[in-house]
Amino acid sequence: MKTLKAKISVQIICLIVGAQLATGLLIVFQVHKAMHHENHNLGLAVAYDLAHVCAKSLISADLAELRNYIRYTMSQEYVTQAMVVDNDCRIVMHNNLAKVGEQYSRVCLQQEMPLFGEHYTNERGETVVDILAPIEAGGVRLGSAILTYSHIGIDNEVTILTRKIFLIFFISSMIAILFAILLAEYVSRPIRHLSRAADELGSGQFNIKKMGTKYSDEIGELARSFYVMAGKLEKEICHDTLTGLHTRNVFQIRLAEECANSLRHNSPLALLMLDVDHFKKVNDTHGHGVGDAVLRHIAATLHEANRVGDCLARYGGEEFVVLLPATQRQGALHVAEKIRQRIETHSFQLPDGTKIPLTVSIGIALFPEDTGEYAWLLELADQAMYEAKKKGRNTVVEASALKSTDA
Ligand code: GH3
Ligand code: MG
Ligand code: MG
Repeated sequence: MKTLKAKISVQIICLIVGAQLATGLLIVFQVHKAMHHENHNLGLAVAYDLAHVCAKSLISADLAELRNYIRYTMSQEYVTQAMVVDNDCRIVMHNNLAKVGEQYSRVCLQQEMPLFGEHYTNERGETVVDILAPIEAGGVRLGSAILTYSHIGIDNEVTILTRKIFLIFFISSMIAILFAILLAEYVSRPIRHLSRAADELGSGQFNIKKMGTKYSDEIGELARSFYVMAGKLEKEICHDTLTGLHTRNVFQIRLAEECANSLRHNSPLALLMLDVDHFKKVNDTHGHGVGDAVLRHIAATLHEANRVGDCLARYGGEEFVVLLPATQRQGALHVAEKIRQRIETHSFQLPDGTKIPLTVSIGIALFPEDTGEYAWLLELADQAMYEAKKKGRNTVVEASALKSTDA
């Protein structure tokens, strides 16, 4: 049992089914006991009636009446045998006349009080008990009236009751199983989802589908805290704290995805690598605080110059990359030139009004035109950017131009 759902289901099912089984067995046992008691009382009443008639018949020596009464007694429900024995346990009257004169030995007659014998199984396979009532007249014990009383009624009732309880037990067990599975699903589903979401987070995917946040219980609390944490983590990992652009990690993931998409949809992809020209001088002249503000200013300019689907990232200190999906050479050149011009024309202004002129050098590499290897694409764009530096900065160079220069 590895899953939480299986564990919860099995535990609830065992608990409910076990409790039901125990309750059912207890009910059957108690009912059986009560019916047994009731049966013995009924048998005892019949035996006493017989003993009473016997006393009168023995005194008046009217054996015909006694025989009639024994016949009447035999007509009573659950009586399987009726007899009268004298004090020496000799059968003086029996519903089966052939047994008259035989010795009765099943119940101990020495006892004064009416007795119940041991239960035994008669020739018809029924559980029976012999019930004895003393025959007395004027304080003298004349003998005993003995009834053999069948428990077939109890057995039948208990069998019916057991079947009913089993049916109820079966139906409620089915309901319990369904309930347990639903409950286990209710509890485990958001946890399973959170666990998958945690895996996705771990593998760098941050656009997780939210689930379980509407629960008002602890699971909902856990889900809400998890997504808040995931949001913070995403911000930390995916966004550069200085410029707010994507980080190098996110860019690498996007690059691999976009290259795969490009091959799948036969749609070209362009990569721009930008480096701020003479940025060290900005730091050296105005301090790192101004340098940081300049980097933010360049990031904002990049944002303005690009489309929504493009991926902008800060690749290093003052180096930026722009990924342009579904973009041909001409489009890439146009975007690169637009960025270059915008940065050149939008110089950074200090609070005292001093303007800091800014320029960037840009390298362009195209996928799959320049290379079909996405790891090599970055390298090509970087080489093109360095070529732009060599050419005097504030310019755009294509990787394809590099090849022709090398050749
Ligand atoms: P080039 O035109 O050849 O690119 O010259 P450069 O001065 O821009 O290049 P260089 O590599 O010599 O200097 C880059 C500088 O960028 C050095 C480093 O201190 C600065 N830098 C890197 N990261 C940050 C940052 O986060 N904030 C600030 N203020 N400066 C940074
Ligand atoms: Mg640099
Ligand atoms: Mg630089």
